[in-house]
This record gives sequence, structure tokens and C-alpha cells, in this order.
Amino acid sequence: MSKPIIAIVGRPNVGKSTLFNALAGEKISIVKDTPGVTRDRIYADVTWLNYQFTLIDTGGIEPDSGDLLLSHMRGQAEIAMETADVIIFLTDVRQGLVDADYQVADMLRRSGKPIVLAVNKVDNYEKFVLDTYEFYNLGLGTPFPVSANSKIGFGDLLDEVLVHCNPQDADEKEDERPRVAIIGKPNAGKSSLINKLLGEDRLIVSDIAGTTRDAIDTTVKRNGKEYVFIDTAGLRKKARVKEDIERYSVIRTVAAVERCDVAILVIDAEEGITEQDAKIAGIAHERGKGMIIAVNKWDLIEKNDKTIYKFTNQVREVLSYMSYAELVFISAKTGQRLPKIFDVLDMVIENHALRVQTGVLNEILTEAVAMKQPPSDKGKRLKLYYITQVSVKPPTFVVFINDRQLMHFSYTRYLENQIRNTFGFRGTPIHIIARERK
Ligand code: GDP
Ligand code: GDP
Repeated sequence: MSKPIIAIVGRPNVGKSTLFNALAGEKISIVKDTPGVTRDRIYADVTWLNYQFTLIDTGGIEPDSGDLLLSHMRGQAEIAMETADVIIFLTDVRQGLVDADYQVADMLRRSGKPIVLAVNKVDNYEKFVLDTYEFYNLGLGTPFPVSANSKIGFGDLLDEVLVHCNPQDADEKEDERPRVAIIGKPNAGKSSLINKLLGEDRLIVSDIAGTTRDAIDTTVKRNGKEYVFIDTAGLRKKARVKEDIERYSVIRTVAAVERCDVAILVIDAEEGITEQDAKIAGIAHERGKGMIIAVNKWDLIEKNDKTIYKFTNQVREVLSYMSYAELVFISAKTGQRLPKIFDVLDMVIENHALRVQTGVLNEILTEAVAMKQPPSDKGKRLKLYYITQVSVKPPTFVVFINDRQLMHFSYTRYLENQIRNTFGFRGTPIHIIARERK
């Protein structure tokens, strides 16, 4: 089930990162004065009461004034409209309303996306509340006074945000078609791959700012089955600054991965696997998605009988935390081995949603325990009573044990391997949760 995405948009210094950090609930180190350094985190998974959502800070490194500021603001608004379910438009009661606020508000309003207007730095309600009324002029409805510094007003703000989240969920639940996100760094060949899979040299991309996300999804039909491909190449415009391009690329990836079942990470074979690839892969891994790594531009590589082996090792080493990922070597340009992608895709989709029987699982558990003695500490030995699968996408298991302290990572890994030896689960992560039975 995909979590809603909430984006924070606003001028420099209104308090976007402060609000982001306060909501994300951890202090994130900020290296504000170092140009070129990513000063903060771009996204965070937030739990508020019983709700979970992904929060995005669209800010990044911001110009202070002039034309650059406006174009940056436009870029922010666009990426938010493209990816978010709800946008928090943050303003500053102390600076008051300025021209750029009106311009951004206009763009946001036209998008038809739910916008929640927040007025920040209302540290003292009595003193500032009258000043917040001015913000009605933006035509975005009721302004919600908050203080990001003092964590005031979050409850009302988030209540309003969450009101707008639920309908989206319902829509996507009804759609049973598998959703596949094509992710990877710029120029890896994502668009080329989608084009080729589509069987035509054209990507159906809507160019109108603020069109719904579904408009940039592409449906591919093969052997009577439909797949929805989610492109992260995006609308490709406006961002002029390198930091913005990178930031927006991460935001698109998070948004696409959030909505997918399986991610295809496209890697440029000429460059080999890089740190940026690993970061992008991490986003899919964290979110428990099925994973295919497509080493692209294979046509450009001079090959001998060891080349594939060498590449495989390299990828496996850098992405050691996702040994479950399937690996394919392709050329989006020539179409080499592309039909194979669909076969692998079908397998991964199936595994990601695979449910196995409790009886067989417990046979595996009994045998696993017999073959390798569970760890013990200070005379107390780990006991594993029972295992059951509680959910799919990704397959998630609960194992009942006597003492969680004794359930070491290595034994969990061993159990995972035993389960995989029987059922495969190729291409999908599996989660094992230990629960104490009293
Ligand atoms: P961003 O550029 O929009 O990300 O803004 P920052 O989060 O970096 O905040 C800009 C400045 O405003 C910093 O000096 C913050 O400490 C300050 N600030 C943020 N929130 C509040 C608030 O609620 N009250 C006050 N008084 N200052 C705040
Ligand atoms: P994206 O930014 O990830 O969407 O990358 P594109 O699909 O725009 O591709 C970037 C560049 O790589 C373009 O010039 C493509 O023609 C080229 N390219 C993509 N896939 C292949 C491939 O398999 N082989 C070769 N030789 N070039 C490719």
C-alpha cells in the first residue's frame, strides 16, 4: 500500500527545513554555509498518530533574490505538484506576504492539488495571530499558524493535510495492475528503456504543469497482461542548478518507488556502478520493493567470457544488502535481451506477492533449528516457537521467540536463507520480525 507524499514548498528562510526536521522527529545536521554540500535530507518517513506518510523538503540550496529565486521557486512548485499528494505551502509571518508568495500561490492553485497554507514563526499566538489574516489574500483558504521552532500548531496542520490524503489511497487500491518504477541516475537510459518496451519511439509524457501523476504513467500491454510503468525521468525542465537537478531526481525516485511494486534500477554499464546508483537502490530497498537491476548500454561494452562475471561481482559487492535483486544485462538502444525483462518482471511480481503455507514454514523452522543451534547468552538460549507469514509486498514473517535480545542479526539472516532455499523469493526482499511470546 503506498503512503501519501507530502511536500513542503516555500521561499528561502521561511522555515522549511526547520519544519521538516521537526516533523521528521530527529535532528539532522545542517551544513548551511557550505555551497555544493547537500545540507540536509530530502525525504523522511513520518508517523503521526496512526498515519504514515513520506515528507519531502523541496528547498535545497536556494538563491536569495531576483530572477534565479523565481525560477527556483517555480522548480520547487513543479516538482511538488508532480509528485505530492498534498502540498504544504509555507510562509513567514515575520516577513509578511511578498510578491514571490503570490506567484507561487498562483501556480499551486492552478494545479488542482490539495494545498494547505501554513504561516510559520507564530511563536506567540496572541502577538501574531492578527498578522496571519493577511495570508487569506493568497486565495489558498485558511492559513494555519505554526511555529516550526517551538513545534506549535502541528496538530491542526497535519489534521488538515491528512483530510486530503485518503481518497488517493482508495483509487490505487482498486488498480490491480502491477506497477513498475524505472529508476536510475540521469542518462542511464530510463527513457530509452521505456520507449523500447513500449515498442515505439515515443514516450507519452504530458507537458502541462500540474497534470496528475497518472498522466506520466505508461501502460504497456504484453501477452494480454497490463503493466503500469512509472517514469522518473520526469518533465525535464526548469531546474538549472546542478543541486536542484539532483534533488529533484531523488524526489522523483522516492515518489515513483513509493507507488510501485517492483523497481527496475537502470545502470550505465560504461560507467559501472556508482555511489549514486547505490543511493537510488537504497530507496527501493528501504521501501521493501521488488528489485531488478538492469545493466544498460551493454552494446557499448567490449566483452570476453569474463565480462559478465566481473560486472556481476562488482554490482553484488556495492549492493551487498540486496543480494535478492535480479540482474539483467540489456541494451535499450538495440533491444538486446529486452524480452527477458518481462520474464524476470513476471517472476519478481509473483514473488513479491507470494504467500506460503504456515505448515511448510514451520517444517523449515524446525529443521533450521535442528541444523544450526540458536545462539545463547549467559546460559539462556534462543528458542524459536512458531513462524507465520503475516503479509505480502514484501513477504513479511513473524517468528515467535522467547527473548528478542537473543535473536541476533546473523540468525535472522540464516532463517531468511533457509526460507529462500525452499521458496526462492528471487527478486524480492523478505522481512522477518521477531516477537516475544510470553
Ligand atoms: P528554509 O530556508 O525555508 O529551509 O528555512 P530554515 O528552516 O533554514 O529556517 C530559516 C530561519 O528561520 C532559521 O534561522 C530558523 O531558525 C528560523 N525559523 C524557522 N522556524 C522558525 C519559527 O517557528 N520561529 C522563529 N522565530 N524562527 C524560525
Ligand atoms: P535517462 O536520462 O535515464 O532517461 O536516459 P536516456 O534514455 O535519455 O538516455 C541517455 C543517453 O544514453 C541517450 O543519448 C541514449 O541514446 C543513450 N542510451 C540509452 N540506452 C542506451 C543503450 O542501451 N546503448 C547505447 N549505446 N546508448 C544508450
